[in-house]
Amino acid sequence: MALDLSRIQALCFDVDGTLSDTDDLYVQKVARLLRPLRGILPGNDPHRAARRLVMALETPGNAVLGLIDTLGMDDELIALSNFLNRRVRRRPKHFLLIPGVDRMLEELYAHYPMAIVSARDERTTLAFLEHFHLTHYFRVIVTALSREHTKPYPDPVLFAAEQMGVAPDACLMIGDTTVDIRAGRAAGAQTVGVLCGFGEEDELRRHGADLILQSTVQLSDVLLGSDAEKSLSDS
Ligand SMILES: [Mg+2]
Repeated sequence: MALDLSRIQALCFDVDGTLSDTDDLYVQKVARLLRPLRGILPGNDPHRAARRLVMALETPGNAVLGLIDTLGMDDELIALSNFLNRRVRRRPKHFLLIPGVDRMLEELYAHYPMAIVSARDERTTLAFLEHFHLTHYFRVIVTALSREHTKPYPDPVLFAAEQMGVAPDACLMIGDTTVDIRAGRAAGAQTVGVLCGFGEEDELRRHGADLILQSTVQLSDVLLGSDAEKSLSDS
């Protein structure tokens, strides 16, 4: 498992769990609600299940079902997700920036065209990017309805590549769940799985991530560290 850095000409970023984190207090609340169900939860771990459910709840429309399906949740958990969704519907959106992501984007912006490839809707994606003054870093913002199919289909990655004027296999798709890895690979791109979100290392590896990072912010070291070395060895 290794990235071919020489191939990378453009970057595609997922949003939830990759650039943005969700409110941990909220996860803790959901985890408390789930505690009585510990016995049927993956890994018997209410906190882990709560993070995944919160992500599903934050992701509107069809993406929720696709995601729940992807996460291998069964009908009972879908019913539970619907139940929780009704209970927390009035909760104001409270997304957080993963620490250091703004600086990382600023550094990478000088070297690569960049795209957002999110399964969220356009309104909340733009609201997040604008809130943290990140919008201008991206050549194109691809959201759930930009194409007929969203992740894990390759369509949004192919569209982002086209809009950035690079071949799909020159793209690097960065994301925290298996849908990101699957979409990237299906488009012919290389992929990075990050562990600062909602996915887990073994499933990201199993779906063929070319590299796993603890946090998205390590990407500048991976890409620009080698750039610096390259320019040193070239000189
Ligand atoms: Mg994500």
